[in-house]
Amino acid sequence: MKFNPADTIQDLQYFGEFGGVNPSISDSSTYTFLSAKTMVDTFEGNIDGCHLYSRHTTPSNLNLGDALAAMEGTETANVAASGMGSITPVLLQLCDAGDHIVSSRTIYGGTYAFLKNFIPRLGIQTSFVDITKLAIVEAAITKNTKILYCESVSNPLLEVADIIGLSAIAKKHNLKLVVDNTFSPLSITPAKLGADIVCHSLTKFINGSSDAVGGVVCGSQEFINDLRSVNDGASMLLGSTMDSLRASSILKNMRTLHIRMKQHSKNAAFLAGKFHADGLITVYPGLESHPSHELFKSMMNAEYGFGGMLTIDAGSLEKANALMELMQQKNIGYLAVSLGFYKTLFSAPGTSTSSEISEDEQKEMGLTDGLIRFSIGLDNDIERTYRMMKTCMIEVGVLENELVL
Ligand code: PLP
Repeated sequence: MKFNPADTIQDLQYFGEFGGVNPSISDSSTYTFLSAKTMVDTFEGNIDGCHLYSRHTTPSNLNLGDALAAMEGTETANVAASGMGSITPVLLQLCDAGDHIVSSRTIYGGTYAFLKNFIPRLGIQTSFVDITKLAIVEAAITKNTKILYCESVSNPLLEVADIIGLSAIAKKHNLKLVVDNTFSPLSITPAKLGADIVCHSLTKFINGSSDAVGGVVCGSQEFINDLRSVNDGASMLLGSTMDSLRASSILKNMRTLHIRMKQHSKNAAFLAGKFHADGLITVYPGLESHPSHELFKSMMNAEYGFGGMLTIDAGSLEKANALMELMQQKNIGYLAVSLGFYKTLFSAPGTSTSSEISEDEQKEMGLTDGLIRFSIGLDNDIERTYRMMKTCMIEVGVLENELVL
């Protein structure tokens, strides 16, 4: 039977301590042992099912990790206090001084800044490449390369990674393929396409309420054990631990993820089609004009759609800013970074989430001044939203058409 990530989440069963339908929240930083030997065995990782100290594991964090591993089809998962708190330990766990990473050049600005400015201090270098060109990716591999890194759908340009093709290259050169799947939960299941490790910022669609920051690494039991090792595990030692209360609230929100993703995708597909027809430069993987539309189709779990993210080019930063301010005034959405909220969120990545990337590099990768990134909300009547957006676009001169509604 075909893998369906929402069904695997549905099939999990948890109970609270007193038979509650929600698992109890573990409200302790440390745990008692009836015997000293069990404590030593737990510390040395020789025993399962016991908790030692909450930076290591907590029952609530393990519950959330189980749901995310089920969703991504991996053996297990480790949750973290943020998306960056999940991605950075993965990179540090897999690389030593002198090692090399081949990364997509269009990735979240924080990850880019970590690779470009931070880990060179530890002797780890990164080559940034156009991830859609497999020959260029392979040519960038050196004898020191350890990781191929990409986002399944990239922030902010919505480039789509050929995960099957990248996985073949990774296997050939004995590299780990690490994929950030934050933009396309449920729609794409990277581990089923050959990714070794899948990360998410839970802050976005997965939590979906813009009230929490969190992250996860999904992978093999062996790798997650490595990350958690008390001796040399990057997650354990860098200490980006999720709080149990948050893990519990994110787990509850995950139960509606499949419903939300369908609505985000439906609304984004509708708007993208309209904007495209209006003559705006619109990027959305669900549009046939997207260069990787067919690739996305070949990888996707079709019922969840092409995701909730789209971009348009407003022509200039001034017009982009005017449009975003007006749309916020009209309560179409919020001028805010991040994604996956019930309201539409919009920002100009060049001056916000990708501002870590230099102007020259932005130009080279096609990140224009007027680009607006939209995370489309769960609006009940998206045609009404479109009419409101179009009125704003005409008012600020992004669209010149007569208003025909
Ligand atoms: N990965 C992607 C694709 C993102 O968009 C972000 C944040 O915007 C992150 C990772 C980092 O996540 P967090 O802010 O939860 O650390």
